[in-house]
Amino acid sequence: MRQMTIKKKITLWYTGIIAVVLGTILVLVLLFVDKVGISATEEEVSAAVTGFSSNINFQDDSFYLEGDTEFYDDGIMFCIYDKNGRLLYGTIPTQFPKETILKSNTPRVITSTNRKWMVYDTVYSYGDNEELWVRGITSIHSMELFMQTSEKLLLIVYPLLIVLIGAIGYFMIKRALKQVDLICDEVENISNGKDLSKRLSLPKAKDELYELSEKFNEMFERLEFSFKKERQFTADVSHELRTPVAVIISQCEYLLENEKLSAEETEEIEVILKQARRMSKLTGEMLMIARNEQGEQHLMEKLDFGLLCELVTEELQAKAQEKNIHITLQKPDDLFMKGDQTLLLRMMMNLINNAINYGKSDGHIDIILKKENNRIIGEVKDDGIGISKEHLDKIWERFYRVDKSRSRENGGTGLGLSMVRWIINLHQGTIRVESIEGIGTSFIFQFPLL
Ligand code: ADP
Repeated sequence: MRQMTIKKKITLWYTGIIAVVLGTILVLVLLFVDKVGISATEEEVSAAVTGFSSNINFQDDSFYLEGDTEFYDDGIMFCIYDKNGRLLYGTIPTQFPKETILKSNTPRVITSTNRKWMVYDTVYSYGDNEELWVRGITSIHSMELFMQTSEKLLLIVYPLLIVLIGAIGYFMIKRALKQVDLICDEVENISNGKDLSKRLSLPKAKDELYELSEKFNEMFERLEFSFKKERQFTADVSHELRTPVAVIISQCEYLLENEKLSAEETEEIEVILKQARRMSKLTGEMLMIARNEQGEQHLMEKLDFGLLCELVTEELQAKAQEKNIHITLQKPDDLFMKGDQTLLLRMMMNLINNAINYGKSDGHIDIILKKENNRIIGEVKDDGIGISKEHLDKIWERFYRVDKSRSRENGGTGLGLSMVRWIINLHQGTIRVESIEGIGTSFIFQFPLL
């Protein structure tokens, strides 16, 4: 499973935290507003009831109301009850539950079917054990409606707000991390292109990313240096080994000319000669690869690729005949391209040599060259042992051999196909292989025509 990116992780964390904090704040604010509203109404009703009570005058066993007494004041309705809870004066709002018990000096919220009321009662004693209750009633329905509407509105606005905050956060983080993406792309380009001489461009601001880029550049510097040293070492070793190996080969050849040698001695010298030739091939190929990796300049000249293939075919004809393999070459005239002749000879040599080495006796090798869409299409096809599927991808790797002993027997080094591939790449071409085990192998390549 793909790991979540830092951008998404930070955005999720940040949005999550903001959602929780903002959600808590909004809930607390709603609760606070509700509480403040209720207690303000409580104070208002109790003050109104106290104010209204000043209209009542007590005299011994009776009381009377001022003449101008109003039972309604600014949304609050007043009622007067006797000690048995019987309504004496005032009007009870229609939906208010009439049986609501009297409770002195305790503001309360009373809920009827779909309305809410704030009620405040106060009691006055007079005469001989007489009581008079004054009740103030006000509807808190509009306040409730306001609260409900606010809650509904928040339920819609809140998720939208969180999505908006998340999106803004994501784009801000994306902007901040853009430089990291740029660094990643540049590092990938450098490592894909395998050109360690390239360096990352440093950001303008001298921040953490500037430091990171600098560290990367230092790392590339060190890598380039150690690769250079390694290539130089390979080139030097291969070069130094050439002379002693050449001396061994020439001495063996000289010894073999001696007619007095016994059959056993001849055989032993031939074994040394065979291995020395293999070593010479190996050092030659290693030197070629090392020089190429050191950035050696190649002589790109106009050449006829068909003619070049003809030369290689003729050269390998004798070797093919040893296994009674028949080589055919089909090619159109004038297959001109721009390339390094030595390298292209080496490439065709490696492919046809392999076709012979891994071909069956009495088999066939077909070399087919064509012109197609301004490109040279070439194929080297054999009816040899073939390559099984699991090895097909790996045969291009250096020193990879499907059957080590068979390769050694043929004087193989395991470097042939990796050289073929880089020679083709150097000429802006591509190569692929098709093979069926036991049936045969085809190497198909293409280059630009001149
Ligand atoms: P080598 O020097 O061993 O031939 P190469 O790099 O040329 O090394 O080839 C790598 C391996 O690919 C060989 O060892 C062989 O197993 C396999 N191979 C290459 N060409 C052919 C072919 N035409 N038919 C079958 N196997 C092949």
